[in-house]
Amino acid sequence: MSTTAALPAATILGYPRIGADRELKRAVEAYWRGASDASTLREQAAALRTATRQRLTALGLTEASSVPADFTLYDQVLQVTATLGAVPARFRDLLGADPTRPGAVDLDGYFTLARGEGERPAMEMTKWLDSNYHYLVPEIDEATPIDYVETTIADQVREAVAVGVTPRPVVVGPVSYLLLSKASDEAGEDFHPLDRLGDVVDAYGHLLADLQAAGAQWVQLDEPALTSDAWDVEQGRILAAVRDAYTWLGAVVERPAVLVAGTYGSLGESLPVLASTPVEAVALDLVAGSVPPAQELAALEGKAVVAGIVSGRNIWRTDLAAALDTLEELRAALPEGTAVSVATSTSLQHVPHDVERETALDPAVRSWLAFADQKVGEVLTLARGLAQGREAVAAELARDAELRAERAAHPGVNRPEVRSAVAAVTDADRTRAPYAERKAAQDERLGLPELPTTTIGSFPQTAEIRKARAAHRRGELDAAGYDAAMRAEIARVVALQEELGLDVLVHGEAERNDMVQYFAELLDGFSATEHGWVQSYGSRCTRPSILWGDITRPAPMTVAWSSYAQSLTDKPMKGMLTGPVTIMAWSFVRDDVPRAQVADQLGLALRAEVADLEAAGIGVVQVDEPAIRETLPLRREDRPAYLEWSVGSFRLATGGAAPATQVHTHLCYSEFDVVIDAVDHLDADVTSIEASRSRMDILPAVAAHGFERQLGPGVWDIHSPRVPSADECTELLRRAVDALGIERVWVNPDCGLKTRAYPETEASLRNLVEAARRLRP
Ligand code: GLN
Ligand code: ZN
Repeated sequence: MSTTAALPAATILGYPRIGADRELKRAVEAYWRGASDASTLREQAAALRTATRQRLTALGLTEASSVPADFTLYDQVLQVTATLGAVPARFRDLLGADPTRPGAVDLDGYFTLARGEGERPAMEMTKWLDSNYHYLVPEIDEATPIDYVETTIADQVREAVAVGVTPRPVVVGPVSYLLLSKASDEAGEDFHPLDRLGDVVDAYGHLLADLQAAGAQWVQLDEPALTSDAWDVEQGRILAAVRDAYTWLGAVVERPAVLVAGTYGSLGESLPVLASTPVEAVALDLVAGSVPPAQELAALEGKAVVAGIVSGRNIWRTDLAAALDTLEELRAALPEGTAVSVATSTSLQHVPHDVERETALDPAVRSWLAFADQKVGEVLTLARGLAQGREAVAAELARDAELRAERAAHPGVNRPEVRSAVAAVTDADRTRAPYAERKAAQDERLGLPELPTTTIGSFPQTAEIRKARAAHRRGELDAAGYDAAMRAEIARVVALQEELGLDVLVHGEAERNDMVQYFAELLDGFSATEHGWVQSYGSRCTRPSILWGDITRPAPMTVAWSSYAQSLTDKPMKGMLTGPVTIMAWSFVRDDVPRAQVADQLGLALRAEVADLEAAGIGVVQVDEPAIRETLPLRREDRPAYLEWSVGSFRLATGGAAPATQVHTHLCYSEFDVVIDAVDHLDADVTSIEASRSRMDILPAVAAHGFERQLGPGVWDIHSPRVPSADECTELLRRAVDALGIERVWVNPDCGLKTRAYPETEASLRNLVEAARRLRP
């Protein structure tokens, strides 16, 4: 490397890739449908990148290297996999499809990795750190090809440079890439993806050289995995990997300056290690993490520091005065003369584009929010304030203070009756009668057979259901018409379940667009957005609701549907609710009160709903908490406090249920070993989990833990249209019975059926019921 260009004073670590109007989704899905061709897709993607560059420049990111180049058609981790040609063995034939790029996949190959093809399953998808974004998990083994084979990232730099913008390419760093990988099925017993670090770093060396040749002055290597300590490798090995990788990359002769970004938390022990390597800059997440200790900062002598002070995760305005305090504290603790840039804490990929477009939102609420474009403005303001002193941004500080005061004084933000209800909660409110007593009361009330059968809640969302909902939304179908359509659907679903011989029925959730949004729309304290889309994975986007105020339940939310369904059958009807933690995990949650407060407010609202369901004669209530594991903190030391409030809020929601009311919960995954203790503490009478894909390997852990209540390990993988045979279901069920004892096992699918169609639903449920019958004494 020759001379290091200065880092810009203000930057963002990444920007949403989907486009303000989900242009990327439309372009990609049209291509998949065959409605457009590769060159059209490439043009559309280029147009999107141009629009983003122009937008960011117009917003004020005009310095060289301040605009990130982080575009990819599907996923940033998949982009690295493609760049390295590191595809799983089952997809090796995709390499070299384009003769000009031997060892690389072409456009179709890239999508095939993400989406699978025929008998070849797609690469696995999993949550990116503790966010709701999902990435494609690389599968690595001793023989995985790893080289620099694909130049998309450098091409983006060339594209920008050609129009006079020097961008800062953003790439998932080599250590995180391997920590976020899994050993492939072909890997040897003791293999760990980190065994391939040397090859990956070597390939990154070529990448860096190409980026330099393309005109990049800086490259940002994201190392979010370093802020978590939940990996199955010893910390010492990770630190050694950090040292090796960045010592090697530092020694690459032709390269841009390297910024290593420690996002999603504090870098912890990785920071001093990075300090000892020749990288030119380190980005710190000062929102999820904190200002590092002084002696660690002293070791950063000679490096630039990027201060991630504007949250890339939430949608609230930054407290500018507090942010300046933190920035000044950081600068004072750093060696004299250290350049400090102001930035977002992570990429802005987790937030929507522009709050100015939310014209239907209550203007008061809107004024408290900052989406991606507003956050760019905040970063620029803070950079100016840091460089020139607070007087230079006095007007912005005053305006922010004013809005902050207005927010605090808003009647919906602080409802004394809600706060005192939460303050009055006692341990007794979170405690039901002993399980044995409940079990006896429920057995008597429900009279269920051994191996009772049930489903997780939703039935297929048919085109007619969606049509009715859309027509109702547009005002073309009035309330009575909509109600009649939903009731007809409920009646159909109930009759079907009776015909299939299920024991505990559900109403099918036809009226729910989404298991969180449905409740957000019915509770006070939430707002919905019109354009607030964020990428969930690939072309999938979600539009989270905004939880901004104290929560109240103006009226029962589910009782009419559930009691109507119950009126149609003598079988028990299961009431369906979404739990506090899941509602929070899939919404944008207020930042002005502790999460425990929000969770308990939701817990109280749901508790009232449970009471109303009971009063309406519903004897089984399920409170879904698939997110309890999802939002588990990245650092182990933060977990006990999280589990305390999250489990507590579930217990508050369900703690008022009579002993004879059977409380179910549902979690969407099988690897719940890490939270098994917490799940036990939920104290639900019945817990359903996903288990069929892993062929029930969770059972020994459940047995070893001494989890004593009832469990419904899924016997049907609902993620594909494949129908499991009765023999298959029986085989899985037999394992469950052997491990847990027949009296504790429930028979159900892995998850809700809303994404399935009726033919496979009926056939699979028939086989599931048959399996239960075969194993009953
Ligand atoms: N009750 C919900 C359903 O069946 C649960 C969905 C989920 O766990 N994600 O759709
Ligand atoms: Zn589920």
